[in-house]
Amino acid sequence: MDHLRAILSLLSLIILLGFSLGEAGASERWLVVIDAGHGGRDPGAIGRSGTLEKQITLEIARLIEIFAWGDPKIEVVLTRRRDITIPLRERIDLANRLGAAVYVSIHANAHMNPAVQGLETLIHSSNYPQDLKLARLIHRKLISRLSSVGVRDRGVKEQPLYLRWAKMPAVIVETGFITHPLGEVRLRSLWYQAQIAQAILAGIKAFLEQAQR
Ligand SMILES: [Zn+2]
Repeated sequence: MDHLRAILSLLSLIILLGFSLGEAGASERWLVVIDAGHGGRDPGAIGRSGTLEKQITLEIARLIEIFAWGDPKIEVVLTRRRDITIPLRERIDLANRLGAAVYVSIHANAHMNPAVQGLETLIHSSNYPQDLKLARLIHRKLISRLSSVGVRDRGVKEQPLYLRWAKMPAVIVETGFITHPLGEVRLRSLWYQAQIAQAILAGIKAFLEQAQR
Protein backbone atom coordinates (compact mmCIF):
# COMPACT_ATOMS: atom_id res chain seq x y z
CA MET A 1 0.00 0.00 0.00
CA ASP A 2 2.81 2.35 0.93
CA HIS A 3 4.42 1.47 -2.35
CA LEU A 4 1.26 2.36 -4.23
CA ARG A 5 1.02 5.71 -2.44
CA ALA A 6 4.66 6.45 -3.25
CA ILE A 7 4.09 5.58 -6.91
CA LEU A 8 0.95 7.75 -7.04
CA SER A 9 2.69 10.76 -5.51
CA LEU A 10 5.60 10.29 -7.88
CA LEU A 11 3.17 10.15 -10.80
CA SER A 12 1.41 13.35 -9.73
CA LEU A 13 4.79 15.04 -9.34
CA ILE A 14 5.71 14.03 -12.88
CA ILE A 15 2.36 15.31 -14.19
CA LEU A 16 2.77 18.63 -12.32
CA LEU A 17 6.30 18.98 -13.64
CA GLY A 18 5.03 18.24 -17.13
CA PHE A 19 2.39 20.97 -16.82
CA SER A 20 4.82 23.59 -15.58
CA LEU A 21 7.28 22.76 -18.35
CA GLY A 22 4.42 22.84 -20.84
CA GLU A 23 3.37 26.30 -19.69
CA ALA A 24 6.90 27.61 -19.97
CA GLY A 25 7.11 26.09 -23.44
CA ALA A 26 3.89 27.75 -24.49
CA SER A 27 5.22 31.23 -23.72
CA GLU A 28 7.52 32.92 -26.20
CA ARG A 29 10.67 30.96 -26.95
CA TRP A 30 13.65 32.15 -28.91
CA LEU A 31 15.10 29.80 -31.47
CA VAL A 32 18.85 29.97 -31.51
CA VAL A 33 20.87 28.19 -34.20
CA ILE A 34 24.37 27.21 -33.08
CA ASP A 35 26.75 26.10 -35.79
CA ALA A 36 29.74 23.88 -35.02
CA GLY A 37 32.20 25.07 -37.66
CA HIS A 38 33.72 22.61 -40.19
CA GLY A 39 33.15 18.85 -39.86
CA GLY A 40 33.46 15.68 -41.92
CA ARG A 41 35.99 16.08 -44.75
CA ASP A 42 36.83 19.58 -43.50
CA PRO A 43 38.84 19.38 -40.24
CA GLY A 44 39.32 23.17 -39.99
CA ALA A 45 42.53 24.30 -38.29
CA ILE A 46 44.84 21.68 -36.75
CA GLY A 47 46.84 22.19 -33.55
CA ARG A 48 50.46 21.14 -33.03
CA SER A 49 49.34 18.20 -30.90
CA GLY A 50 46.84 17.16 -33.55
CA THR A 51 43.68 18.76 -32.11
CA LEU A 52 41.08 19.27 -34.84
CA GLU A 53 39.05 22.45 -34.93
CA LYS A 54 35.95 20.52 -36.09
CA GLN A 55 36.03 18.47 -32.87
CA ILE A 56 36.42 21.50 -30.56
CA THR A 57 33.62 23.42 -32.28
CA LEU A 58 31.25 20.45 -31.92
CA GLU A 59 32.07 20.03 -28.22
CA ILE A 60 31.44 23.72 -27.51
CA ALA A 61 28.21 23.74 -29.55
CA ARG A 62 26.94 20.74 -27.56
CA LEU A 63 27.77 22.48 -24.28
CA ILE A 64 25.78 25.55 -25.34
CA GLU A 65 22.84 23.25 -26.03
CA ILE A 66 23.22 21.57 -22.62
CA PHE A 67 23.47 24.88 -20.72
CA ALA A 68 20.36 26.12 -22.53
CA TRP A 69 18.31 23.13 -21.31
CA GLY A 70 17.70 24.92 -18.03
CA ASP A 71 16.32 27.98 -19.81
CA PRO A 72 12.64 27.77 -20.80
CA LYS A 73 13.00 30.83 -23.06
CA ILE A 74 15.68 29.47 -25.35
CA GLU A 75 15.57 26.58 -27.78
CA VAL A 76 18.88 25.64 -29.33
CA VAL A 77 19.15 23.91 -32.69
CA LEU A 78 22.57 22.66 -33.79
CA THR A 79 23.54 22.61 -37.48
CA ARG A 80 25.36 19.33 -36.85
CA ARG A 81 25.67 16.84 -34.02
CA ARG A 82 28.14 14.51 -35.66
CA ASP A 83 31.32 14.63 -37.68
CA ILE A 84 29.69 15.32 -41.04
CA THR A 85 30.39 17.62 -43.99
CA ILE A 86 27.84 20.44 -44.39
CA PRO A 87 28.21 23.27 -46.94
CA LEU A 88 28.08 26.81 -45.50
CA ARG A 89 24.99 27.61 -47.55
CA GLU A 90 23.07 24.72 -45.94
CA ARG A 91 23.95 25.89 -42.43
CA ILE A 92 22.52 29.34 -43.06
CA ASP A 93 19.55 27.95 -45.01
CA LEU A 94 18.59 25.90 -41.95
CA ALA A 95 18.56 29.02 -39.75
CA ASN A 96 16.60 30.99 -42.37
CA ARG A 97 14.07 28.18 -42.83
CA LEU A 98 13.51 27.85 -39.07
CA GLY A 99 13.13 31.62 -38.67
CA ALA A 100 15.87 31.62 -36.02
CA ALA A 101 16.28 34.69 -33.80
CA VAL A 102 20.08 34.50 -33.99
CA TYR A 103 22.81 32.43 -35.66
CA VAL A 104 26.12 31.87 -33.93
CA SER A 105 28.90 29.90 -35.58
CA ILE A 106 31.69 28.45 -33.43
CA HIS A 107 35.27 28.33 -34.71
CA ALA A 108 38.87 28.19 -33.49
CA ASN A 109 41.59 30.29 -35.02
CA ALA A 110 44.95 29.49 -36.58
CA HIS A 111 48.11 31.52 -37.22
CA MET A 112 51.58 30.85 -38.68
CA ASN A 113 53.04 32.43 -35.54
CA PRO A 114 52.39 30.13 -32.55
CA ALA A 115 52.63 33.10 -30.15
CA VAL A 116 49.42 34.62 -31.50
CA GLN A 117 46.46 34.00 -29.20
CA GLY A 118 43.17 35.48 -28.05
CA LEU A 119 39.47 35.76 -28.72
CA GLU A 120 37.74 37.53 -31.56
CA THR A 121 34.17 37.80 -32.72
CA LEU A 122 33.47 38.31 -36.42
CA ILE A 123 30.66 39.95 -38.33
CA HIS A 124 30.11 40.30 -42.05
CA SER A 125 29.50 44.04 -41.96
CA SER A 126 28.93 46.76 -39.39
CA ASN A 127 26.24 48.03 -41.79
CA TYR A 128 24.05 45.52 -39.94
CA PRO A 129 23.73 47.16 -36.51
CA GLN A 130 22.03 44.12 -34.97
CA ASP A 131 24.95 41.89 -35.94
CA LEU A 132 27.34 44.35 -34.36
CA LYS A 133 25.24 44.53 -31.21
CA LEU A 134 25.05 40.73 -30.88
CA ALA A 135 28.80 40.42 -31.51
CA ARG A 136 29.65 43.06 -28.91
CA LEU A 137 27.43 41.49 -26.25
CA ILE A 138 28.85 38.00 -26.78
CA HIS A 139 32.40 39.32 -26.97
CA ARG A 140 32.02 41.30 -23.75
CA LYS A 141 30.82 38.18 -21.89
CA LEU A 142 33.74 36.15 -23.28
CA ILE A 143 36.33 38.73 -22.25
CA SER A 144 34.88 39.24 -18.79
CA ARG A 145 35.20 35.48 -18.16
CA LEU A 146 38.55 34.83 -19.78
CA SER A 147 40.76 37.93 -19.71
CA SER A 148 41.66 37.12 -16.07
CA VAL A 149 43.41 33.91 -17.21
CA GLY A 150 45.48 35.79 -19.77
CA VAL A 151 43.39 35.31 -22.91
CA ARG A 152 43.92 38.32 -25.21
CA ASP A 153 41.05 40.50 -26.37
CA ARG A 154 41.34 40.79 -30.17
CA GLY A 155 38.03 42.57 -30.45
CA VAL A 156 35.02 42.45 -32.76
CA LYS A 157 36.12 42.40 -36.40
CA GLU A 158 34.46 42.90 -39.70
CA GLN A 159 35.27 40.76 -42.75
CA PRO A 160 33.43 39.34 -45.78
CA LEU A 161 31.68 36.21 -44.52
CA TYR A 162 29.02 33.74 -45.62
CA LEU A 163 26.95 35.21 -42.79
CA ARG A 164 25.72 37.75 -45.35
CA TRP A 165 23.10 35.15 -46.40
CA ALA A 166 21.54 35.13 -42.93
CA LYS A 167 18.15 36.74 -42.44
CA MET A 168 18.81 37.17 -38.72
CA PRO A 169 21.68 38.65 -36.67
CA ALA A 170 24.63 36.33 -37.25
CA VAL A 171 28.17 36.17 -35.86
CA ILE A 172 31.22 33.91 -35.81
CA VAL A 173 33.01 33.37 -32.50
CA GLU A 174 36.70 32.54 -32.82
CA THR A 175 37.12 30.77 -29.49
CA GLY A 176 40.94 30.79 -29.36
CA PHE A 177 44.04 29.92 -31.37
CA ILE A 178 44.51 26.19 -31.82
CA THR A 179 48.04 26.96 -33.11
CA HIS A 180 49.04 28.54 -29.76
CA PRO A 181 50.44 25.77 -27.48
CA LEU A 182 48.51 26.81 -24.35
CA GLY A 183 45.54 27.83 -26.49
CA GLU A 184 45.32 24.28 -27.82
CA VAL A 185 45.44 22.79 -24.31
CA ARG A 186 42.74 25.20 -23.19
CA LEU A 187 40.49 24.55 -26.17
CA ARG A 188 40.58 20.82 -25.34
CA SER A 189 39.68 21.37 -21.68
CA LEU A 190 36.15 21.08 -20.40
CA TRP A 191 36.71 24.10 -18.14
CA TYR A 192 37.62 26.42 -21.02
CA GLN A 193 34.91 25.02 -23.29
CA ALA A 194 32.32 25.54 -20.54
CA GLN A 195 33.45 29.15 -19.98
CA ILE A 196 33.12 29.83 -23.72
CA ALA A 197 29.73 28.10 -23.96
CA GLN A 198 28.30 29.96 -20.95
CA ALA A 199 29.62 33.32 -22.16
CA ILE A 200 28.14 32.84 -25.64
CA LEU A 201 24.79 31.80 -24.19
CA ALA A 202 24.80 34.78 -21.79
CA GLY A 203 25.60 37.14 -24.68
CA ILE A 204 22.80 35.70 -26.80
CA LYS A 205 20.35 36.06 -23.91
CA ALA A 206 21.38 39.65 -23.23
CA PHE A 207 20.86 40.43 -26.92
CA LEU A 208 17.44 38.76 -27.14
CA GLU A 209 16.23 40.38 -23.92
CA GLN A 210 17.27 43.82 -25.15
CA ALA A 211 15.64 43.19 -28.52
CA GLN A 212 12.37 42.32 -26.78
CA ARG A 213 12.14 45.62 -24.93
ZN1 LIG B 1 37.07 27.67 -38.57
